[in-house]
Amino acid sequence: LAVVENYLRRVFVIDLTHFLDLPDGLPGPTIRLAKQLSLIVRAATSGPSGVAWTTVIRCAKRPGRRLCPGHLAVHRMEVPARIDWRCDSCGDDGMISNWEGSYFDLRGMRSEPFEMRTTVRLPIEDAPLLYEVMTLDPDVERMVFSVAIRDGHAEVVGTPDEIEELAGSVAFEANHEPNRRRERRLDGLFMLLNDAIR
Ligand SMILES: [Zn+2]
Repeated sequence: LAVVENYLRRVFVIDLTHFLDLPDGLPGPTIRLAKQLSLIVRAATSGPSGVAWTTVIRCAKRPGRRLCPGHLAVHRMEVPARIDWRCDSCGDDGMISNWEGSYFDLRGMRSEPFEMRTTVRLPIEDAPLLYEVMTLDPDVERMVFSVAIRDGHAEVVGTPDEIEELAGSVAFEANHEPNRRRERRLDGLFMLLNDAIR
């Protein structure tokens, strides 16, 4: 029993339904937590279940008031449905329940066969900008949230059509970005995506 109690104390379980359709005027930390949870659920549901992999979602912990340099690894289980996440640097972890069928549940088959896909390597620090880019195609959205850290790079894996569509969305975002630094980072992502399909 002590072991079970220890486990329950240690694991931070969040019911996603408490963070959906939040009213206006909530404190910053609550809004940031809701945004972080939405990213975790989208990443964890963007691909197959039963495998743990490292996303480009930055850890939100601030040990000693400095932002943790880690990224979150995610793992999804279907029966019973659960999503676990863990920081690859500080080990902060948690579990999310009641995400099934929510707006952030991206589960679904990508329509193109796996053999058609190509891999584009992006700088890890810039790849999270892709999460903010508007995409209308569900396959492209799944591709974005499947971006994984491998061998020191952020890898985008998709068909040339999907990568072209994403490159177009990134170019649109860069053209409408008022912040010059972010605009340059988006331009850099566009060039890498565009070069990969030429
Ligand atoms: Zn961390």
